[in-house]
Amino acid sequence: MKKDISSLHVPHNKNTAAYVPQRIETPAEVILPMNMHSGHDAEPIVSVGDYVKVGQLIAREEGRFSSPVHATVSGTVTDIAPIPTASGKETVAIRIESDGKMEVSETVKAPVITDCDSFLQAVRDSGMVGLGGAAFPTWAKLNEAKNPDYKVDTVLINAAECEPYITSDHRMMLEHPQLIADGIEYLRKYMSEYLGDAIYKICIEKNKPDAIEILKKTFENKDYVVIHELNAIYPQGAKQVMLYNATGRVAVAGRRFPSFGALIINVSSLAKMAEYLNTGMPLVERIVTVDGPAVDKPMNLIAPIGTRISELLKITGLKAEPGKVVVGGPMNGTAICSVEDPIVKVSNAVLVFDEKSAVLPEASACINCGRCIEHCPVGISVADVDRMMNIKDADKKARMLIETGVRQCVDCACCSYVCPANRPLLQINWDAKDFLKKYAAEQKEKEGGNK
Ligand code: SF4
Ligand code: SF4
Repeated sequence: MKKDISSLHVPHNKNTAAYVPQRIETPAEVILPMNMHSGHDAEPIVSVGDYVKVGQLIAREEGRFSSPVHATVSGTVTDIAPIPTASGKETVAIRIESDGKMEVSETVKAPVITDCDSFLQAVRDSGMVGLGGAAFPTWAKLNEAKNPDYKVDTVLINAAECEPYITSDHRMMLEHPQLIADGIEYLRKYMSEYLGDAIYKICIEKNKPDAIEILKKTFENKDYVVIHELNAIYPQGAKQVMLYNATGRVAVAGRRFPSFGALIINVSSLAKMAEYLNTGMPLVERIVTVDGPAVDKPMNLIAPIGTRISELLKITGLKAEPGKVVVGGPMNGTAICSVEDPIVKVSNAVLVFDEKSAVLPEASACINCGRCIEHCPVGISVADVDRMMNIKDADKKARMLIETGVRQCVDCACCSYVCPANRPLLQINWDAKDFLKKYAAEQKEKEGGNK
């Protein structure tokens, strides 16, 4: 029998699983960055002083993997200027001062869809991206199924939500199972040429029995939908791990995901995509789990995208001085510098750690225990990556790093979590991947110059 790729049993801390998401009061201002997706920044099409309404297009996508941005409140555009991001780079953001009316734009109408192309265009117009954290535009992911080199027979609906604390996908499944069903029917209807015989596997961890029950009921007469229960381990939601655990197929580095015969889509992305196709309301709000040791009343909140994090924390309150604020999960999320930053499309959680739990222990020398390798879900020689980063010769360093498999790293942080020497292995992997990217670009440039 096939054995699951298992990695780590981390404390689940799903404190908010039973909490129905509460819609927050309209914030006084939203800040909408142009980089809420994986590709090029979107391009603003409004000016300071313009009055905008909810759902109105305010920035167009720029290039294939970009995504449009829509107004999430009604009100006046007060500023279009660069803001710093957690990565240290800057991106332009549109600020809208809310008039409190949440007036919906006249452009919000269910799109007319007649075939696969108009379907994909509608998904593109919705501004939908991978809401689990990947931020890859949903239409671009679906579009890959059209590649004649691929034969997609399985659509994996990623409902694992394996990171501790986060329950926003869980609540989406409990609150809106019909939208998930609608999303599957849209894919079957308009992508029938490419996904006609596909099996839809809703991959969900066993620690969500109430959602499993609802989904089983919702799909009881649909033989093309399987509720695939997975062990509650981290990082079950990483696409390579899910592919193996749900289909037995192994994702080989350097190949596009659909080449393994599967598409993967986050469950909330699928539901919100269906909502747009049903109503024409693009992605303007989302469920955010607010939790962590310093949060007084952990909650699930529904907030307009662009709401400042401080607005959410005013609602939940704090019971301790914050030491670190993370957007996303504690394993894979991003620590932010200011609670005045906005939530963006992929912000599934805001976690606040107190000063004690935020302090990182000091790193010491590697003791060659092998735990990092043992727990890496994709079998990377993590301790070797750590050593190879000290090689001075760039060619040798690149060759040796490639041999460790670091390019396949899914950024899950299991290695850092288990390391008894507290080595910052995730950061080291990031540095290694950065080095390899720059090295490859330099080699390409050299080859160009030699022609
Ligand atoms: S090397 Fe990457 S994939 Fe492996 S455990 Fe570390 S972060 Fe996860
Ligand atoms: S877990 Fe830490 S100490 Fe053990 S081999 Fe890996 S880097 Fe070294």
